[in-house]
Amino acid sequence: MKRTLVIGWDGAPYDRISKWVKDGKLKNLGNLVNRGSFGPLRTTELTISSCAWTTMVTGKNAGKHGVFDFFGTKFVNDSYFREPIDSRWRRADALWNYMTKNGYRIGVVNVPITYPVDKVKGFMVGGMMSPSVDAPRFTYPADLLKDYPRLKEYRIDIEGAKHLDRDKFIYEVHKTIDERFELFKYLIKKEDVDLFFGVFTSSDRFSHYMWHFFDPAHPYRKNESEEEIRKYENSLLELYQQLDVYLGELIEEFGADNVMVVSDHGFASIYKYFEFNKWLYQKGYLKFKPKSERSEFKHGKLNPKRTYIYGKVDWGSTVAYMIGKRGSVYINLEGREPQGIVKKEEYEDVVEELIKEIKKIKDPETGEYIVEDALPRDAIFSGPYVEEAPDILTFFKDKYASIGYIVDLESEDLFIVNDRPDLELELGIERYSGIFVASGSDYRHRHLEDAWIGDVTPTLLYSYGIELTEDMDGKVLDIFNEDFEPPRRIYLSKREKGVIARLKKMKL
Ligand SMILES: [Zn+2]
Repeated sequence: MKRTLVIGWDGAPYDRISKWVKDGKLKNLGNLVNRGSFGPLRTTELTISSCAWTTMVTGKNAGKHGVFDFFGTKFVNDSYFREPIDSRWRRADALWNYMTKNGYRIGVVNVPITYPVDKVKGFMVGGMMSPSVDAPRFTYPADLLKDYPRLKEYRIDIEGAKHLDRDKFIYEVHKTIDERFELFKYLIKKEDVDLFFGVFTSSDRFSHYMWHFFDPAHPYRKNESEEEIRKYENSLLELYQQLDVYLGELIEEFGADNVMVVSDHGFASIYKYFEFNKWLYQKGYLKFKPKSERSEFKHGKLNPKRTYIYGKVDWGSTVAYMIGKRGSVYINLEGREPQGIVKKEEYEDVVEELIKEIKKIKDPETGEYIVEDALPRDAIFSGPYVEEAPDILTFFKDKYASIGYIVDLESEDLFIVNDRPDLELELGIERYSGIFVASGSDYRHRHLEDAWIGDVTPTLLYSYGIELTEDMDGKVLDIFNEDFEPPRRIYLSKREKGVIARLKKMKL
């Protein structure tokens, strides 16, 4: 049976990677590109790792799988703070479920939002947002890593630090990548599978806090010395070169017939943040409590320079609020939000009116509009979980992002130039296309222009002769060799399995 290796590089931007491939700077990836199919991989409208990876592994838009963000629709104790999600929020079959049902063996390691892991034919190790390596259902089978000598060294994700303690942060990034690679190698040696799917996520974390080194016009660069800039301006390439070396070793170790390298989205600079909730306040959609009644919002370690709106908003008279850096607007809907006031019959009008207003937002410094488009959720998503999506999605122009909290409640200014170390803001944001590379015995050489992230799973299923369900949004990519024929499905019914077992016993 053929063996397929799928390696994920979280946040690998097509524009940079394709240039480095052309310049011969990523040797192993370049070899795959030269023989196989390569192109940008268009990401999800909500360019969030959780949403994007889930669309990749299900072949469906988020309205059909229900993972829109890192939080779901459950509010913590009637506050407006939402509970983080885990894999139980994914309500669609994933690649490994299809493979298992069809009798194939699959290994899945560190795909985001896979904790608690599924029972599969093969093995699974949870990805980001898994509580710990000791958590029940971090792996399947439960004892998968009981003899793994480096388990104590393994990191699910990078902790804190970020750009304020840069050396520690960079050390953590590399350590996380090294340990991920060691675990992939260990499992590939230990377990035989038809398909191995492993994701390196630290490239995404690294890009969020280092991006100003890779963009000479980034405002945050003023905080760096010439020496620091020289030291780090090539660090993104170096990180991908490390991933490229590991890619080569994994291909060899696994003995792959087919290899895919995929990323969930690209990256771009944030020059300015827009204080969206303050704007909603100025427009009258969001109300604050009188000063004496405002309280601090307590959740984990929070930056004291930021004003978290949760304890300060007068929710009982607020119409809309925004969460996150992508302008996800929620209507304070009666019966859905803890203190919702907007009636169902008013919903559509409020959405329409707000969209008109959002499209009019301008940056006073340039006089330009900052929003490319704003759309209601049902213009983007389809399926049974659309109602769990943000009510309005804002698509900012390049270099802009929103900020959910408020930096200075007293000032009227709505924009924050992204040059302030005290605020610990992200310097790069998930944007644009990731990469898609497929090379090996099944695939032909071509440049791909129109691959979508949801096409990855249908393409893999097709290569194993697994029938696609009709509700899949992704399509099989036109990358197969002319003489390629999908293998006969090896799905066996219970009866057939019984017959085979009996025959085996008879030693026929
Ligand atoms: Zn990502």
